[in-house]
Amino acid sequence: MTLSPPLAARWEALLAGLARIADEHPDALLASSMGIEDTLLIHAVAQLPRPPAVFMLDTGRLHAETLAMVGVVRERYGIETRVMHPDPQAVRAHVAAHGEFAFYESVALRKTCCGIRKVEPLRRALAGHSAWITGQRREQSPTRVELPETQWDDLFGLRKFNPLAFWTADEVWGVARALDVPRNPLHERGYPSIGCEPCTRAVRPGEDPRAGRWWWEQRDSRECGLHAGNLRMTGTPGARPRARLSSDTTEAPTS
Ligand code: SF4
Repeated sequence: MTLSPPLAARWEALLAGLARIADEHPDALLASSMGIEDTLLIHAVAQLPRPPAVFMLDTGRLHAETLAMVGVVRERYGIETRVMHPDPQAVRAHVAAHGEFAFYESVALRKTCCGIRKVEPLRRALAGHSAWITGQRREQSPTRVELPETQWDDLFGLRKFNPLAFWTADEVWGVARALDVPRNPLHERGYPSIGCEPCTRAVRPGEDPRAGRWWWEQRDSRECGLHAGNLRMTGTPGARPRARLSSDTTEAPTS
């Protein structure tokens, strides 16, 4: 299948933008949850002469299908995904104190779990790097409606690129299908968003794509701490307002 002219233009701009990021930040990392946005980005960076390294956070609570995507990516692209794990002692202590399913009890306990299983390993993964790349899109959530394509990530202290920020789900899937990008089988079972097994469920057709993530919480608290800047941008109560930096831009790094 070939790309329609609008999708081909999107794709070419994405490749050009990623090439520019790789040139300007040779140590940039690509974060992957092994959802469709991330495998699309892996497909794209695999075309570059010097692709950014890919990593994922294995929280210890992921679906087997998501973990299996590491092998799919290796086989298809020869890319070895660096898999980051949480500190086992911190996990043991948290489970001993609060149980294995404490995240259902309160937002605070859920965020503590995300902090141990996601944020701390992410901090280790990003340490010493000048930039990271995510597959986040504005359309995905009320916490992402102001997501820029380029931003300074003041939580982790490096530049963050969201080259799919303005892509729609239809565009992502249109390109992915046309280019036969590998797909996490969970997508076909109704999971538009890939996350930890106990905190993610399938959604019904027409439902908000993020409705399956932490569905027992208020819509605007549903970020895991990896992208805390998103909450600041939406003015979530308790969120620290953030001054805009002159270097921040909503200009596409892809154009
Ligand atoms: S998504 Fe759920 S299981 Fe995964 S780290 Fe966050 S609270 Fe824990």
